Amino acid sequence: MNDEHVFTLQEAVQEAKRCLNCAQPVCRTGCPIENDIPGFIQAVVDGNIGQAGEILAQRTNLPAICGRICPHELQCESHCILARKNAAIRIGKIELFIADMIAEMGFGPARKVLPPKKGNVAVIGSGPAGLTIAGDLAKLGFALTVFDSQPEPGGVLMYGIPAFRLPKHVVHREIDKLRKLGVEFKVNVMIGPDITVDTLFAKGFDAICIATGNALPQTLNVPGEELPGIVPAIYFLQMVILAETSRIDPGVVPVRFGDRVVVVGGGNVAVDVARAAKRRGAASVCVVARNPIEQCSFLPSEIAAAKTEGVVFRDGLAVDSFCGADRVEKVSLNQGSVQLTVDIVLIAIGQRPAARIVSTTTGINVDSAGRVIIRELPFGITSRSGVFATGEVVHGPATVVLAMREAKKVAAGIASYVEAKTLMTLCESQEGEGSLESRGIHD
Ligand SMILES: Cc1cc2nc3c(=O)[nH]c(=O)nc-3n(C[C@H](O)[C@H](O)[C@H](O)COP(=O)(O)OP(=O)(O)OC[C@H]3O[C@@H](n4cnc5c(N)ncnc54)[C@H](O)[C@@H]3O)c2cc1C
Repeated sequence: MNDEHVFTLQEAVQEAKRCLNCAQPVCRTGCPIENDIPGFIQAVVDGNIGQAGEILAQRTNLPAICGRICPHELQCESHCILARKNAAIRIGKIELFIADMIAEMGFGPARKVLPPKKGNVAVIGSGPAGLTIAGDLAKLGFALTVFDSQPEPGGVLMYGIPAFRLPKHVVHREIDKLRKLGVEFKVNVMIGPDITVDTLFAKGFDAICIATGNALPQTLNVPGEELPGIVPAIYFLQMVILAETSRIDPGVVPVRFGDRVVVVGGGNVAVDVARAAKRRGAASVCVVARNPIEQCSFLPSEIAAAKTEGVVFRDGLAVDSFCGADRVEKVSLNQGSVQLTVDIVLIAIGQRPAARIVSTTTGINVDSAGRVIIRELPFGITSRSGVFATGEVVHGPATVVLAMREAKKVAAGIASYVEAKTLMTLCESQEGEGSLESRGIHD
C-alpha cells in the first residue's frame, strides 16, 4: 500500500458499524495473536476509543505497526463473514485508527507499571519478536534489557520495511511505549564477538532470549555474483533508511538517478526493494521471478501499487549468470535466452540466521539451516539452560504478527522459568538457613 490513509473518527465509526456482531467471531481466529476484534470494533461503535485501545493492548504491544503492515486480507479480514461478499470489515484500518488516535491524543492504556522485581531478562535483538518479549515480560514485572547491534531499536521494522509503508516515527512511538513500561534498550551492541551470552549471565541476568532474526542474505550461487553492482536487497533497504535518517551519506546508497535496476526474487521483499529503487530515481526497475507469478508470494495489493509506480514484473525467469568488465552489466536468464542490461542488481531471495551467538556460546543447538532449536517446556528454551530463542532465528522468514505470536508463548515460558528458578533459590537458601550448621550448631 502506498502513502497511507488513516481513517478519520467518522470513517472508523462508520466502518465499525458495518460489523454484524457474529455470534462466532471468526475474524478473531484469523488473527494469529487473537486480538479481541469484536471487542475493539464495538468500543469504536460506542465512540470509546480509550477502551478500544485498552482492548488492543491486552494482546499486542505494536498495534500501530500491525495496523499498517499485517497482511489483513489474508488473516482477520479474510475470515470476516462479509468477505464472502467481497466487503470484509477493514479491521486493519480500524486497528490503525485506534492506535494512532490513542498515541496522538496522548492517552495510553491505563496500565500501572509495577517496579520490576521478578527477575532480570536480557533480550538480544529488538525486532518484533524481541519487542514482544520485552513488552509482555515488563508488564508482568520483570526487568528487561534489550540489546541490538543497530543504532536504533526495531529490527526489520526500523531497517528493512521502507518508510513509505511504515513511517519510522511510528516505530519510534511504539518503542517509546515500551520504554515507559521500563524496558531499557542498549543499541550499537553486537552480542557474540565481544560480549557473549556467558558475559550476560555473569552480569546477573536470570534468562537470556535470542531474537536475532535472519541477518544474512541468501545467495544465488551463479557465476559473476561477486561483481560490483550486485547488492543484497536487505543491505540496500538498510542503507536507504540509514541515508533517510542522516546516518550515512545518501551518495553511497547503491541505486542512483537514472539506473537500470533488476530485482531478483519472488516475494514481498522484492516488491519493497523495487518500489524503493523507483523512489531513488531509477530509470527502470524490473522484478524477475523464477516461478510463475501466481505461485509467487506477492501480496496482490503490493504488486498493484508497484505496477502503478512503474515497476515491471517478469516471471518464469531463472538467473544463470551475471557478466561485466569492472561491474555488473548484463544478467543472463533461462540459459541465456533472455539477457537484461543493468546498472544495479538487487538480490531478494531470502535470508538466513547469522551464527555470531551460537558460535561464541557452548550448548545452543541449531538445525542444518542454522536456526536455533527450541523445546516445549518451558516454551522456547534452547538446549542451554536459561537461554531462550524466538522469532525468525527459530522459525525462519514469516511475518511480523507470526513472530509476535511465537514470542508471546516464549515470554510465558521465560516467566515460568525465572519464577521457578527464583522459588528454588529461595527454598535452597531457607533450607540452608534452617540447617543446624547454618545456625552454628555442630556435633
Ligand atoms: C524488507 C522486508 C519487508 C517486510 N515486510 C513485512 C510486512 O509488510 N508485513 C509483515 O508482517 N512482515 C514483513 N516482513 C517480515 C518481518 O519483518 C519479519 O517477520 C520480522 O521482522 C521478524 O522479526 P524478528 O524479531 O524475528 O527479527 P528482526 O526484525 O530481523 O530483528 C532482529 C534484530 O536482531 C538484531 N541482531 C541480530 N544479531 C544480533 C547480535 N548478534 N547482537 C545484537 N543484535 C543482533 C538485528 O540488528 C535486528 O534488529 C518483512 C521483512 C523484510 C526483510
